[in-house]
Amino acid sequence: MKSISILGSTGSIGRQTLEVVRGHNKEFRVVGLTTNTNIELIKKQIEEFKPLSVCVMDEEKADLLRTQIDIEVFSGLEGLKKIAILESADTVVNSLVGSIGILPTISAIKSKKSIAIANKETLVTAGKIVMSEVKKQNVSFIPIDSEHSAMWQCLQGNRLEDVRKIVLTCSGGPFRRLSNEQLIGVSVNDALQHPTWDMGAKITIDSATLMNKGFEVIETHWLYGLDYDNIEVVIHPESIIHSMVEFSDNSIIAQLSLPDMRLPIQYALSYPRRIENGSVSLDLSKIRALTFENPDLDRFPCLRFAYFSGKSGGSLPTVLNATNEVAVRCFLDKKIKFSDIPKIIKEILDSHKTINNPELDDIIEIDKKVKLTTEDFIINNLSQKNGAIYNQI
Ligand code: MN
Repeated sequence: MKSISILGSTGSIGRQTLEVVRGHNKEFRVVGLTTNTNIELIKKQIEEFKPLSVCVMDEEKADLLRTQIDIEVFSGLEGLKKIAILESADTVVNSLVGSIGILPTISAIKSKKSIAIANKETLVTAGKIVMSEVKKQNVSFIPIDSEHSAMWQCLQGNRLEDVRKIVLTCSGGPFRRLSNEQLIGVSVNDALQHPTWDMGAKITIDSATLMNKGFEVIETHWLYGLDYDNIEVVIHPESIIHSMVEFSDNSIIAQLSLPDMRLPIQYALSYPRRIENGSVSLDLSKIRALTFENPDLDRFPCLRFAYFSGKSGGSLPTVLNATNEVAVRCFLDKKIKFSDIPKIIKEILDSHKTINNPELDDIIEIDKKVKLTTEDFIINNLSQKNGAIYNQI
């Protein structure tokens, strides 16, 4: 039986990880859980899954939870790290959102835990350091992101040196067909309606700007050591093929299924075995067509920024992620317009002096600084007239 700690158990991936555990309670048990603020839900999760200890990031909420349950409740980033290295856990599912996941991930790797990673911002921000630590400690590091799980599956039994390129599929998000003018006026609600995947708010906005796909390009680079020129994004609105690998003999292997995150979550936990589950089998006779098109980098410049940051390397991907985290939060808070997101990111990227080979401390520092700089930039440039940063587009 595998003992699992879930970082971010009240978020979308965390809840679905618990569904997988619920369906396979002879295979998996839960020993640690964490939440930012959602103590109502984590209380229910504690009652059902009986972890040994939990962490609530918010100090006040942690105090409140301590009065209501009798297991150990840690708090803050230090608490998060404690859950990441729990003695009784052999596997850590990192389903945190944002660069907050870097330090707990490194703690878990150093404690020789197997890692199932859904927290892409950690790989975008600190991919080089995280992957070198994985190598050093020789721990298993399996992606939960559906595309990277697909690649992982396609690569089984193959040699990385025989890979010519990876084709990363992308639904195109809810605004695939909108013009630049139409993109200006989209609302938070419009952006939260993803056509094929039901996910948390931050990643859904990232999917609408295609920054999510950009992050996944960088994630692919670090997970499989591929050059950026050998990672191709293709729009595939049906979300049936979750990614493909082309080999040196022109053979392409793809992984297909209906979109259901429980599948990659489960595979990351059961690997190399495959186990049954309640998901729906793909009936190909009901699929009229699988279509593909190139992404439009003019309408969705975030994908271009990601390629540029990834190729430039050094501290630039850290900046890309940090400024995006703030811009997306401000959009969700209705402080800026959707079309402001890429403009803010470009401004902050352009003003950054890249540091080559940043150490972990540099990365943590740059992440913090860029978040503050982006906040200041937004406050200083916000137009009182219409709530947009850029009036003339
Ligand atoms: Mn994905």
